[in-house]
Parts: sequence; structure tokens; C-alpha cells
Amino acid sequence: MLMINTLHFLGISLLIWLLSYLSHTEGCVYLYGSSPQNPAPTGWDYGKWGDDWTGPSLSSFNVSPQWKCLRGRQQSPIDFEQGPSTGQKAPARLRTTWRYPPLISNGQNVSIINNGHAIQVQWDLIDSSFRPEILVPFKGLPNSTVLDVLSMTAADVVHLAKAVPYQFHFHTSSEHTLEGMFGALELHIVHNITQAEMPGCPPTGCLMVTAVIFKQREQQNPHLEHILRSASAIEGATTLLPKSEAIDLQSILPLNGKSSYLQYSGSLTTPPCSEGLLWHVFSTPVPIGKAQVQRYMELVSFKNCSAGSSQRWLLSSKALYSFRDPQLLKTQAGRTLFSGLAAVEGDTSSLSIAKQSTATARHESHKNYTCTLGAYGYNQRFTQPLLGRLIRNYQT
Ligand SMILES: [Zn+2]
Repeated sequence: MLMINTLHFLGISLLIWLLSYLSHTEGCVYLYGSSPQNPAPTGWDYGKWGDDWTGPSLSSFNVSPQWKCLRGRQQSPIDFEQGPSTGQKAPARLRTTWRYPPLISNGQNVSIINNGHAIQVQWDLIDSSFRPEILVPFKGLPNSTVLDVLSMTAADVVHLAKAVPYQFHFHTSSEHTLEGMFGALELHIVHNITQAEMPGCPPTGCLMVTAVIFKQREQQNPHLEHILRSASAIEGATTLLPKSEAIDLQSILPLNGKSSYLQYSGSLTTPPCSEGLLWHVFSTPVPIGKAQVQRYMELVSFKNCSAGSSQRWLLSSKALYSFRDPQLLKTQAGRTLFSGLAAVEGDTSSLSIAKQSTATARHESHKNYTCTLGAYGYNQRFTQPLLGRLIRNYQT
């Protein structure tokens, strides 16, 4: 019986291998962030849009806390059922204010990282030329955290907590949806609010994320050009924004007085999906060019990988799955790409290593693999149940 099962299993494996080999003789397609070149695989990808993010096993529970992704009750992203008019109208005096000066490159201080999960921009935090001022009203009590912001009333005395942005990154398609509709891209600017600013926060601070949803248009968005042009499709690669180029986050945000943003409490949208984040999602989409969306989807593309000179095609259980994927669009192959390390969204360690570039060194031992662009990719988690959470609606 065992032998029959084994033979049966081998037969199916062979069939899968054969189908896989015949269907794309370039090699096997690996989802973004899971290719064999990745020197620091994190054990998760976007193949099932977050529905398979179970986290470490129970045996390692004491060492590493379980991921909240499947068990959490305050998960992100969410759908805003009534679009921009979703949620409870909130008093104007409780509005968050944003002021990002241009992030100007001196050739060394602004890094664009392909971390295997997103294209992420980080900068030198001790650089005195970039002094953003993002102020979040809160109650000012000794136990105040970012979540108390949501229960404030117009009668409350307002204190202001300064939120410090330390990285931003993108997802495609959008993660938050408006009346069930996806945008082409979503920007997440991740901020830290220190315990000194908000006493109820843990010693590592509280997280606040500002999100902007992009809608595809014919014309390009000039404020995204420098980023998309400089970013590498090599997973694990860090590139530096060329000297004197600038990123103007302020101009990306729809702060024209006619827009609105929605505020709610949620989680990281990547493992470990930690909760207790304060989200600000602009419900007025901003434009992005079609070519720019395609460029981003190339950066997070699925890859055909093979082992360099030996030309031995590699197999992956994900190969066939990828090709069944309805979102998969084949595009021109032939460009040579490599892959590398991964990072976790909202990881505060980047606060202290804003000036890192470990990618190149770690890459060395994996360069016998060659990967080419196989298909446009995506790096988005699907929406999660709201479960009675409060959403507040602000005019800008
Ligand atoms: Zn994100």
C-alpha cells in the first residue's frame, strides 16, 4: 500500500514537473519575494493575498509571538463601504496636519530598497534638511495611545503629538478599497510616535500610517517619477536616489481642502500583522500614469529563475499556482533580474539602520541563479472584516 502511494505520488510529481517544464521552458516562475535567489526568505509571499499567513508554529510560540494575521480582530486593510463618505463626520479641530518638506538627495541620504515585499524608500534620519511636521491631536492623558484619538470629542482639550515618518512604500493594487473598488497603487507612509510624545505608547513608540490611493490615468504623476526610475527590480537591491533629485511627498497628498481622509485603528498589512496602528487613509484618489503602474508591477514581478551556468531548471510548488493566477499577465521576458533579502513592513529597526546597505554583500552567495521577469506582480493583501470598528471621516 505504501509502495502504491509512493508510486502514485511520484507519478503525480513527475506529471506536475512535466507540465511545469513544458508550459514555460524558461524555468519556473517564483512569486515576488520567494525566488531561490532570495538570501533571506521570510516564509511568506502574496500568493494567497494574506490568507495563508499563519505565522510561527506553536512550538516556537515562546520565542516568537504568533502572527496576528488570521486571528486578529482589528486587521488591515479594510473596505470603506460608502467610499469617501464612509464613517462618522469628525470635528475639524481634531484634524491631523501634515507637512513634509521635499526630501532632497545628496547622493547618499535617500535609499530605495526592493525588499522582496515592496519598493521602500528610507532616508538618513539625522539629516537636518528634512524636518517634517505631522501633528496628531490626542487627549494628553498619561495613558493616551494612538487609539484614544478615535474616541475624542469636540469638547476634549487637544494636545498635539508629533509623528516622525521613517519610511514609505507602495502596494499594487491598492490594499484599502473604496466601495469595493481597488485603486492601481497605494502609498503607505509609516510614522513613529515616541513615548515622550504620547505617554501611553510602548518604549518603542506607536505606529501611525498615512495611506494614499492612486487611480490610473493617462498622464504620469511627476512626483513618483524619481522613485520609479531609480528603483531596482533586483530583490534585495538598494539604490541611492541620485544627487539633487527630490521626493515631494507633500504634493502627492490630496490636501487641497476638498478632499477627505478616513481614520481607524488597524494593523500592519504584512506579517506579523501587529495591531494597534492608527490609520489615516485619504479617500480622494490621486492620479498615476498607466506606464507608471506597469513599471511598479515589473519591480514586484514574478521571476523565471534557473541555476546559472548549469542551466538546470528549478522546480517550485508555486510554479503551477502562479500560472493559474487570474491576475497574472504575461509580459516580455528577457530582462535579467536578481533577487535578495526581505524585510517586514513597519519594522522599527529601520529607525536605527536608515543608512544601511547590506543587500549587496548578502547577494554574493546567490549570484549563480539567474532570474528574468516572468509576469507582472502584485504585493497586496485583501481587505479584512471591520468587526464593528469605528471609522472617522475628516475633511482636509
Ligand atoms: Zn504597506
